[in-house]
Amino acid sequence: MKAVRYFGHKDVRVVNDLEKPVPKGDEVLLKIGGAGVCHSDLHIIDEGTVGNLTFTLGHENAGWIEAVGDTVKDYKKGDAVLVYGPWGCGHCKPCQQSKENYCDHQSELGYGGGLGLNGGMAEYMLVPSSRLLVPIFDLDPVIAAPLTDAALTPYSAIKRSLPKLMPDEYVVVIGVGGLGHVAIQILRETSGAAIIACDVTEEKLAFAKELGATYTVNSKDADAAEQILKITGLKKAKVILDFVGATPTIELGTKVVGMDGDLTIVGLGGGYYQYSMNGLPFGVTMTNPYWGSRTELMEVVGLARQKKIHIEIEKFNLEQANEVYDRMRNGQIKGRAVLVP
Ligand code: NAD
Ligand code: ZN
Repeated sequence: MKAVRYFGHKDVRVVNDLEKPVPKGDEVLLKIGGAGVCHSDLHIIDEGTVGNLTFTLGHENAGWIEAVGDTVKDYKKGDAVLVYGPWGCGHCKPCQQSKENYCDHQSELGYGGGLGLNGGMAEYMLVPSSRLLVPIFDLDPVIAAPLTDAALTPYSAIKRSLPKLMPDEYVVVIGVGGLGHVAIQILRETSGAAIIACDVTEEKLAFAKELGATYTVNSKDADAAEQILKITGLKKAKVILDFVGATPTIELGTKVVGMDGDLTIVGLGGGYYQYSMNGLPFGVTMTNPYWGSRTELMEVVGLARQKKIHIEIEKFNLEQANEVYDRMRNGQIKGRAVLVP
């Protein structure tokens, strides 16, 4: 079968010689409908964040059940499902609570399909356990694939701050890409706060307005922080969701977060922050959430089935993977790119 394989630093190739896997025990073989292209892939490809491994890329996957191992009873051929991406041990306390993204054994297990183990940028994908599947019912797997990360990650990050996102407050979203464009919609649907969106191009800012941002600020502007503070007034913003995580965006967040606010850094942009006693208003919580839980993914499916969130997708075939990664490096994807085998 065909697959997009990572061979090492900056070496991604489409191969056509992989065996179609055969599921056994609790394993499930999925016929891939779509595999989303996440910026985290670029951190792997360009910065080598998973080390010296060879595997099939793609950690945002959806498709139809093709075959099941002999102990799988709850799925049948043709069922449409999402693959929950952070694969934990399944047994520790966080895993029992469905928070496999915070599995006690993450440091031993690695990070799951497409992140060190074989992922879904292929015709078929072997999922190690039916526990990791979430049904999508009437949703199309091509459109639904990015729900597993581009929607789940911001959903989980927003949910932990929801009690602070009252209608008299401001929330700043930095980076209106794959994750950020869904974050704006989740905030619009689940919170009352006014949304201030930041990106570096006028196209992305106009897109943010269409999705529900009340205000937009170009974060390349030298006075971006002042522009945001002019909107919020003295109280500043209650929650910052940084989907870039580079030093300049983290600095921007520290300048505009208000007292008792949340400074949530989701982006893995390699940024630094030097803590100092007077560097932040009192009561600020700084956090670096990772992905979301399995039950939160079910809630995200609910949002999509109710048409409360819409993933803007651009479709490509597997052979176009490197072209898509190049476009993503240059910020030229609107919403999410999805590879369709
Ligand atoms: P993306 O490439 O789709 O979007 C990034 C967006 O940020 C683009 O619109 C780009 O124009 C914008 N941007 C770049 N520099 C900026 C700046 N200085 N100010 C404002 N906007 C800027 O990326 P994505 O797939 O949405 O991923 C975003 C980040 O989140 C990546 O670093 C990715 O690795 C990370 N991520 C983290 C988790 C997690 O669990 N913590 C999960 C998925 C992705
Ligand atoms: Zn675990």
